[in-house]
Amino acid sequence: MDIQDLKAWLELPRDIVILSHRNPDGDAIGSSLGLAMYLRKKFHKVQVIFPSEYPVVFEYLDHVKDILIYDLKPNESKQAVEKADTIFCLDFNGLDRIDKLGEGVQFSKAKKILIDHHLDPEPFSDYEFLDTTASSTSELVYLWIKEMGDIDMADVRIGEALFTGLITDTGSFKYNTRPMTFRIAADLKELGVDDFYLQDQIFNALKSKHLRLLGHCLANRMEIIEEHEFAIIHLTKKDYIDFDIQRGDTEGIVNHLLYVKNIQIAAFVTEQPTIIKLSLRSKGDISVQEVATKYFNGGGHKNAAGGGVYASLHDVLEKLKRVLPAYTKK
Ligand code: 5GP
Ligand code: MN
Repeated sequence: MDIQDLKAWLELPRDIVILSHRNPDGDAIGSSLGLAMYLRKKFHKVQVIFPSEYPVVFEYLDHVKDILIYDLKPNESKQAVEKADTIFCLDFNGLDRIDKLGEGVQFSKAKKILIDHHLDPEPFSDYEFLDTTASSTSELVYLWIKEMGDIDMADVRIGEALFTGLITDTGSFKYNTRPMTFRIAADLKELGVDDFYLQDQIFNALKSKHLRLLGHCLANRMEIIEEHEFAIIHLTKKDYIDFDIQRGDTEGIVNHLLYVKNIQIAAFVTEQPTIIKLSLRSKGDISVQEVATKYFNGGGHKNAAGGGVYASLHDVLEKLKRVLPAYTKK
């Protein structure tokens, strides 16, 4: 399919499902809701589905309550995917990122449209709108609506959703940006998006337990390997209980390690009920996507990646310390 075929396909009202990845972040949610609002304006029936719950901080977004969560309503979610004649996949590029919903997509006869900015996409879609140099999938949704010839249909609500993705995937415009990112931000601001309000909603929303957890990570769980310019924070299962850590509570902790001068790679390692999960961040040309793919069953972007392995916390920490020096070496 090319864009003309897709335009023709979307001439008729369709039964559309929009899917994004498990543990949806601001970009997954913003791009999905922004796209949904646009497609509804085109008279399509649209259902957004995520494999798992979204962080409460994003509840300020319009239509967030209409999102279907597979973990909470598996049958309804499965049926919606089966029934759909059009499936948009946003902010992921491998079906393993959407858990059980992946099978539904794989076997569906629907037209599958992939809009994403991650490296190494799997071939499962009929139409792709991909750009790994884009800051976010939200940026790509904006550009795709433009490609559809409908940018005049973007309104302030769509703008708020997409701007949310721009903010969260660029760390408030600190990384992953390109000139187009700022152009789109300007366009959205012109539509009336209140970016100060969004920043306040997203970042000034912590509970005291989050700051206590951060304090614990920095005071008791941080290792700086100065010689090899990387740093690690780990959390144990016991920490999860002691600090009442829920999904999303550890968001952003990994970034603190890069505040240390000369640190090139940051790793945040957590002991989950069955697996060890890793979040990796890097600076410049160092690819933690390669680290995550090669050693930790993961993937992502060059400077932000993650993965998960069935192993002990101790073994994962040792493996990281063995593997990372080769990446920080000039
Ligand atoms: P985070 O560290 O914030 O959880 O994830 C950073 C990036 O790494 C995400 O945008 C995502 O692309 C990627 N990522 C995180 N966990 C996984 C994983 O288990 N598998 C894959 N393929 N990518 C992941
Ligand atoms: Mn993204």
